[in-house]
Amino acid sequence: MLSKSEPDEIRSLLADASNLRGGHAARALFPETTQEVADALAEAASEGTPVTVSGAGTGVVGGRVPFGGVVLATDKLNRIQEIVREDAGGWAIVEAGVVLADFQRAVEARGLFYPPDPTERSCYLGATVATNSSGARTFKYGPTRNYIRRLRLVLATGDVLDLRRGEIFADARRCLRIPMPRGRCIELELPSYSMPQTRKHAAGYYVAPGMDLLDLFIGSEGTLGVITEVEVTLLPKPDGVLSGVVFFTDEEYLLAFVREARERSLQNRAERRAGGIDARALEYFDAESLRCLREKYTLVPQQAMSAIFFEQETTLENEDRLFAEWLTLLEQHKALVEDSWFATEEKDRAEMREFRHRLPVLVNEWLARHNQRKISTDMAVPDQAFAGMLRLYKETLEANRLQYVIFGHIGDNHVHVNIMPRDDREATTAREIYLRFVRRTVELGGTISAEHGVGKIKGDYLRELYGEGPLREMAALKRVFDPACILGRGNIFAEEYL
Ligand SMILES: Cc1cc2nc3c(=O)[nH]c(=O)nc-3n(C[C@H](O)[C@H](O)[C@H](O)COP(=O)(O)OP(=O)(O)OC[C@H]3O[C@@H](n4cnc5c(N)ncnc54)[C@H](O)[C@@H]3O)c2cc1C
Repeated sequence: MLSKSEPDEIRSLLADASNLRGGHAARALFPETTQEVADALAEAASEGTPVTVSGAGTGVVGGRVPFGGVVLATDKLNRIQEIVREDAGGWAIVEAGVVLADFQRAVEARGLFYPPDPTERSCYLGATVATNSSGARTFKYGPTRNYIRRLRLVLATGDVLDLRRGEIFADARRCLRIPMPRGRCIELELPSYSMPQTRKHAAGYYVAPGMDLLDLFIGSEGTLGVITEVEVTLLPKPDGVLSGVVFFTDEEYLLAFVREARERSLQNRAERRAGGIDARALEYFDAESLRCLREKYTLVPQQAMSAIFFEQETTLENEDRLFAEWLTLLEQHKALVEDSWFATEEKDRAEMREFRHRLPVLVNEWLARHNQRKISTDMAVPDQAFAGMLRLYKETLEANRLQYVIFGHIGDNHVHVNIMPRDDREATTAREIYLRFVRRTVELGGTISAEHGVGKIKGDYLRELYGEGPLREMAALKRVFDPACILGRGNIFAEEYL
């Protein structure tokens, strides 16, 4: 197995998109098979060497940033093993280090579709499972979890598990019994907390009555096992997609539009009524986001105070009618229809995606100029609490004269508040305000992380959500799978809980 230890060779594996500093490791290992992963973990466990699993490093919470020990890089587990087309959709078997964009292209070339799409497509498929990634299309399709049929994973002990959905469930006493190789059995009791009832949630271990064991590993952020192979469900590729970037002069009009677009989408979906309004993405840009984007996109109307990016899948037969329905809905809610942008061709849609992707890039460039780190939230709240929360974000940030942009997945009541401090004093204020937002979110029944996970930078917020006891329960659960506590140290909960 390839092993690298020269500082220059491993430097790029010691960071991710969080800008968490100080990552260090003795060496990086590059296994090419599940057996090599098992051998590496068994050796590390016998020596008590910490192991941090690495994907592509696009994570934004420091999950793959190591503080000692070795990095286990999944780069060479990069084969798409099988893509199978069946009557209605299909399935695929993919190794953990396959780049999501490559997989999506391969699948689409076969007339199929893999919905999870966490914006930054250079990420690895195994990591999207480890973080239960979501993104814009989650509004219609749910997070990565919904597409996982089977996982091959290696526990920190070196044991290999092949877990298929539908085989092992928690019993009425919240116990899971897991048959292991060589006739052993692992028994564990699930933690006692209940997860927030938001549309999305990605903070801490997944725990629910009667849950499937597979779901415990999905979203476990490299702390319970190393995923080496993933079997996913595929859907038929939609014939076409209608996209729009639509502008509003008043936030109240936009919020009413989102409420109606969401209700009609959910109703049509629940009643399996094809051909009506059924958004697959509803994404928000606030006035500050538009101000920032105007630097590059001069066509953003001057009077626009906020915008929505939406997508809806279409067929040749219903494309024109659906376009007309969206226009009527937008006119009813006083959108700036004449100045808005619509696309049905792939080339134009790619430009709209680029418009959306451009925003975090512009924010990052601004921060680099000011030598500051972004302070970015990832909270979601229940439907009825969203408008008040959005108001609270803006009023608080403006009262404190902080620069910010707010954008993201409004269909799921989940927007990212990006605070952009100009100096260290503002950064301190921004962190205090973030904590106030976290506390209010928890009071409202929301989640502190809807998609990015906890990693090494949001453990304190997880404690605000659940309290100390559940963090200890999570650590105890981890020890069942990883008695030497070597995997993903510092992720989800601080090492002191182990
Ligand atoms: C501009 C930008 C936009 C983004 N937008 C979104 C978005 O809309 N939605 C969203 O959900 N995320 C988003 N992200 C975050 C990120 O892309 C996702 O979390 C992605 O899944 C991380 O994949 P990665 O390969 O880069 O993982 P890494 O950053 O390398 O690792 C992420 C975590 O997974 C663990 N891990 C990696 N591989 C494995 C494995 N095989 N087995 C076990 N554990 C493993 C690591 O230890 C780490 O804890 C965005 C990031 C950027 C930079």
